[in-house]
Amino acid sequence: MPVSNATRAAIDVCDLAPEYIRAIAPYQPGKPIAELARELGLDPDCIIKLASNENPLGVSPLAMQAIHGALADTARYPDGNGYELKQALSAHYGVNAAQCVLGNGSNDVLELAARSFLAPGMEAIYSQHAFAVYPLVVQAVGARGIEVPARSFAHDLDAMLKAVSPRTRMVFLANPNNPTGTLIRAAELLRFLEAIAPRIIVVLDEAYNEYLPDDLKTDTIAWLSRFPNLVITRTFSKAYGLAGLRVGYALAQAGVADLMNRVRQPFNVNSFALAAAAAALGDVEFVRRGYELNQRGMRQVTQGLTKLGLEFIPSFGNFVSFKAGDAGSVYQRLLRHGVIVRPIAGYGMPQYLRVSIGLESENGRFLDALSKSI
Ligand SMILES: *Cc1c(COP(=O)(O)O)cnc(C)c1O
Repeated sequence: MPVSNATRAAIDVCDLAPEYIRAIAPYQPGKPIAELARELGLDPDCIIKLASNENPLGVSPLAMQAIHGALADTARYPDGNGYELKQALSAHYGVNAAQCVLGNGSNDVLELAARSFLAPGMEAIYSQHAFAVYPLVVQAVGARGIEVPARSFAHDLDAMLKAVSPRTRMVFLANPNNPTGTLIRAAELLRFLEAIAPRIIVVLDEAYNEYLPDDLKTDTIAWLSRFPNLVITRTFSKAYGLAGLRVGYALAQAGVADLMNRVRQPFNVNSFALAAAAAALGDVEFVRRGYELNQRGMRQVTQGLTKLGLEFIPSFGNFVSFKAGDAGSVYQRLLRHGVIVRPIAGYGMPQYLRVSIGLESENGRFLDALSKSI
């Protein structure tokens, strides 16, 4: 006897998902240019997007060349071990290839860390106003996320240490953090690593590392040999200009990397991303230009915000969050001027907007539109 339609209709299949899955709040990405163009009937070429911390210089020419080179092999599966990219990372950072985990964006490696070490009944700690992907990946594996209140928008490392319980297995630190742009200084970070129980994995997310000036850069990779519980994640999406390809990586002790690699989908990074990332890593000149453009742009934008009488949180990334009062309305008015920024109410900052640093002309247009939108 087939199941009756009435029986079928009486069941909501969504109820079959675990409660912790149903409770996940969807991630809210920056609005794509094409979507705004459709919604407002604007010419896409007249829209500027400063909403996702993308690289205003575009793609490194060396990476572009590598992508073209990889096209002819599209019928083949990518190298599931990412040999060339791992060799490049290994040479660049002086680590062993066995310490590298490649991901479909660093979001992927964040998830691999959660899936490797967390399960229901365990806890992971992260800061208030920290990157939205941490609660997502923790909840998706049924572990409990513990959000620790921030101090002046920055990670409160002492409070995070105090939040450790026997169930804690992981701590996420974003440095610099997105969307606040705050930085944990090296000495403070080191004290935290020395104090935390070695049974707790510390995921140090350094997505914006390349935007730090030399005097604030710390050789955290050198700490891997001392702290076997440390997992460093970085990305090709920001300073390397490859956000659309999705490629990032984790560096950890070989045993941890091996676990994460076992959890990973065999072909999680596509051929173009692998080729482009290896080439981009060697394009030191491109990263340097991006860094300098960002330094100048940051000055331009923050001076402009100050002139408009708007408070902002001093940032070490390629973006800055500023207080816009009725941020939702200001966001909407900016959209009508063809300028896309990022509302961050979902990060517990309903009065703030985050703007990515763009080209000088884009920053200028943003400031002009903002002056008419507040
Ligand atoms: C942008 C960003 C990432 C990078 O994400 P990808 O998946 O590599 O594009 C990671 N962490 C933080 C804090 C970010 O802001």
